[in-house]
Amino acid sequence: MPLSIETKCVHLEKQVQNEADEKPACNHYGSISFPIYQTATYAHPGVGKSTGFDYSRLQNPTREQLEKIVCQLEHGTDAFALSTGMAAITLLMEIFKPGDHLIVDSDLYGGTIRLFDNVSVKNGIEFTRANCSSDDIESLIKPNTKAIYIETPTNPMMNVTDIAAVAEITRRHNILLIVDNTFMSPYFQNPLDLGADIVVHSGTKFLAGHNDTLAGFIVVKNAELQEKLRFLIKTTGAGLAPFDSWLVLRGIKTLALRMEKAQSSALKIAQWLTTQPHVTSVIYPGLENHPGHKIMQKQSRGFGSMVTFRADTVEKALSVLEKVRLIKYAESLGGVETLITYPTTQTHADVPEELRLKNGITPETLRLSVGVENVDDLIADLQQALN
Ligand SMILES: *Cc1c(COP(=O)(O)O)cnc(C)c1O
Repeated sequence: MPLSIETKCVHLEKQVQNEADEKPACNHYGSISFPIYQTATYAHPGVGKSTGFDYSRLQNPTREQLEKIVCQLEHGTDAFALSTGMAAITLLMEIFKPGDHLIVDSDLYGGTIRLFDNVSVKNGIEFTRANCSSDDIESLIKPNTKAIYIETPTNPMMNVTDIAAVAEITRRHNILLIVDNTFMSPYFQNPLDLGADIVVHSGTKFLAGHNDTLAGFIVVKNAELQEKLRFLIKTTGAGLAPFDSWLVLRGIKTLALRMEKAQSSALKIAQWLTTQPHVTSVIYPGLENHPGHKIMQKQSRGFGSMVTFRADTVEKALSVLEKVRLIKYAESLGGVETLITYPTTQTHADVPEELRLKNGITPETLRLSVGVENVDDLIADLQQALN
């Protein structure tokens, strides 16, 4: 019987180790935690011989171990660990060339929009923005279109796109489907199983899970892409450092526990927020009235722990940020600590105002990343901050 994902998160480290027979065992002495190979280079046993590792920009045993685990969790054929989520997306853009066209969701992580608008455009890549959860995206495909890039649910508006339906379109047109799976993590959603070609992650968030390190991943299931990306990661040099790789390895061991706990609290908080007089809307795909609820039931194993809501006035939104105590007013998400973010001036500040408002990111909008604290303590903190 195949191992369940909870078990894999804890024991994959040893399993992967036993299967890695093409290289000498990196884990001596039966150490339960995979060692941190804090080395830049490796002594060769002889001329023309290698231990399997030559130089840590190319590969490092701790990073390789992490890549194998993330690859298995996302059901890919290869994975790449990079220094940040943005480094992963930047590396991925190197597979395109000037004149290529991409259709991208209009509601994406702000840093991704900034990269596309300021760096990729300069490199000759053309973009069309669309609401991939509702627009007719097939009609936007042009002869030079090479990929569709989505997040689902999106950050921060939680729009849900039917991954299999978009994959059907990309397959028909022989173009790539790229899914940023940060919000769900492989614990709740596996886009490659639904027909996506490439998954990217900010490993900083749920995978690492402790707000203590940055990391990024690309996962693929195609030999040609695999080869291209191996070449690019060693050439451009943003591979994840050994210690950070180890932190993410450790974080993944509790991925299942953290995702389940945070999700159950997020649902309670979302339900509680809907009863609050100073809250005008609550956007959480786990609520039955969310337009993406049914699609998520079909394509995911959960709804995650990101809750977006709107206060009745801008002043109220700002005062919530001032008054929260236990909950920290900070960027980022997916860690054990509950964080509250103001997308207008934080994560999405560089998104043009017109686009921001069109996407629904009004100045009253707040975004919660629910952590693993006691849910009643979190609700009590929100209660005092809202009133
Ligand atoms: C944070 C985030 C990123 C960027 O990742 P970093 O690790 O901060 O570079 C990309 N996509 C999404 C959905 C994110 O939340």
